[in-house]
Amino acid sequence: MGKCLIIGCGGVASVAIHKCCQNSDVFTEICIASRTKAKCDALQEKLEKTTSTKITTEQVNADHVDELIALIEKVQPDVVLNLALPYQDLTIMDACLATKTPYVDTANYEPEDTAKFEYKWQWAYNDRYKEAGITALLGSGFDPGVTGVFSAYALKHYFDEINYIDILDCNAGDHGYPFATNFNPEINIREVSANGSYWEDGHWVETKPMEIKRVYNFPEIGEKDMYLLHHEELESLAINIPGIKRIRFFMTFGQSYLTHLKCLENVGMTSIEPIMYEGKEIVPLQFLKAVLPDPASLGPRTKGKTNIGCIFIGKKNGEEKKLYIYNTCDHEECYKEVGSQAVAYTTGVPAMIGAMMILNGTWKKPGVHNIEEFDPDPFMDALNRFGLPWKISENPDLVE
Ligand code: NDP
Repeated sequence: MGKCLIIGCGGVASVAIHKCCQNSDVFTEICIASRTKAKCDALQEKLEKTTSTKITTEQVNADHVDELIALIEKVQPDVVLNLALPYQDLTIMDACLATKTPYVDTANYEPEDTAKFEYKWQWAYNDRYKEAGITALLGSGFDPGVTGVFSAYALKHYFDEINYIDILDCNAGDHGYPFATNFNPEINIREVSANGSYWEDGHWVETKPMEIKRVYNFPEIGEKDMYLLHHEELESLAINIPGIKRIRFFMTFGQSYLTHLKCLENVGMTSIEPIMYEGKEIVPLQFLKAVLPDPASLGPRTKGKTNIGCIFIGKKNGEEKKLYIYNTCDHEECYKEVGSQAVAYTTGVPAMIGAMMILNGTWKKPGVHNIEEFDPDPFMDALNRFGLPWKISENPDLVE
């Protein structure tokens, strides 16, 4: 059917690439381009004997728009799937605009020198994408991503209006290390050490990091401590889901993770302010990333499950209604299938599905759009087909 250019070749990209190769009717050709080409070549070598998808590789520094434009002009893709880091979102969007190529990503732009992710920079491209007649699909991972699709699906099929959404992200995986992060450590630590916030009655309520704690009994996992965080999808769902009064996001953390994080924070290791060390400028958090286990190395060691989903409270025909839509995923099963643990898996599968929706023309809406703005049904079907089946409970435990 078409050609996809995938930028980045880390944990999430590796899963998305495996999944494209399982879906050769749609992804007849993929080009993997990243900063370190050797990683792209290694994946090409592993996968090309297993698939009829034609795989090529390229080297690119996605911080440079001119390099990206040259790459897109050479490869001529039908869609670009950005699986590099949030810092590269705008350069890749610029290059897609210049070459009139549809764009898909999984994380919103964050300037490298400020730990503040927001959609405003990417939404500012809306008119230019519309004029160019190309679609940008923002946030096609799990959260953001599937959580937005679940919200659109709940609204379409179960509610007249949704008033409350709690997004619950539980990782009950155990990798056996005292401290490691499940995806890019720099991005992960920036996210969890920032202030929390939630949307209520038309404005943001800010909290201290990890200030709000709840315990939740997760289906197929059991009771876990979870903490309120700010999260990307709150910003777009607050606008795109009519009738919304409050949206919160909770993520589970074990005590060992939190104790280590507090200690690293206290000694200054999570700072993104550059310091001078032996005549060279270094960023403490980037140095920390270099000494922590590579998330890709956690795959073979991680046991247990993830459970990510949304609890909705709203109204249908004047009656109050509750609904919980969630997916559970097993780390060891994921590793067996694609050589990665469930955190990368639950992001890489929806990234492939988002690119597929654009490539096969199921989703076409010129402009810059968040995932909940599209028809959720074909995406929900694809989740079942490609390894992330979801469940619905009409009588869930609620979060206080
Ligand atoms: P990794 O660090 O494992 O991979 C990032 C990849 O991007 C690496 O291959 C890296 O290259 C490449 N890269 C970095 N900078 C550049 C550059 N300037 N030019 C070209 N390539 C570059 O990250 P993850 O796979 O864990 O995360 C990928 C994305 O997914 C991130 O944006 C993350 O925020 C997002 N994510 C989204 C989730 C969701 O649910 N929505 C959940 C988890 C992650 P190199 O190999 O040279 O370092």
